Amino acid sequence: MHECCSPGAIAAPPKKCQCPVHRGECTAVSAQTIIHHLKDPWQWTEKNQGYYFCEDPACEVAYFGEDGSVISKQKVRGIIGIKDDSPHALICYCFGVSRANALSNPSIRDYVSQKTKDGLCSCKTSNPSGRCCLKDFPRVVTTG
Ligand SMILES: [Zn+2]
Repeated sequence: MHECCSPGAIAAPPKKCQCPVHRGECTAVSAQTIIHHLKDPWQWTEKNQGYYFCEDPACEVAYFGEDGSVISKQKVRGIIGIKDDSPHALICYCFGVSRANALSNPSIRDYVSQKTKDGLCSCKTSNPSGRCCLKDFPRVVTTG
C-alpha cells in the first residue's frame, strides 16, 4: 500500500508557525492561495507540509513552509497591500479597494462587508493572505 493511501498517515500541519526570518507567529495559507500569487508558479514545487503567510509589514518574507523554506515578496506577482504603505496598494483584492480608497471613503468597508456576507468575495484566491481583507481594514485606516 502506498503511503498516500493509508488514512491518517499525514498529520495536519499546525495552524500557526513561526516565520523563519522575523520570528513572529504567522497563519496557515493554502497552496492554492500561493500559486495564485506566485510569479512563475510552475517553477515552485509544493511539498506535503504546511505553508504560512507572513503578515509583518517589515518582513521580506511573503510565504514560508514548515521546513523553513521561504518565498520572498519579490517572488509574488503583485504588491502585498498589508506589506506596502503606498496609497495604491490593494487592501481588498476581491473588489479592488486600494489603501487610498479605504482612507477617503469609510463606507467602502461596509460595501465589502455586505458583499462578503452575500458570499461574493474570493479572498482565498484573490487576497495574497488567503483571508478576508476585512481584518486588514482597521489596521490600514489607523496606521495609514
Ligand atoms: Zn516574516
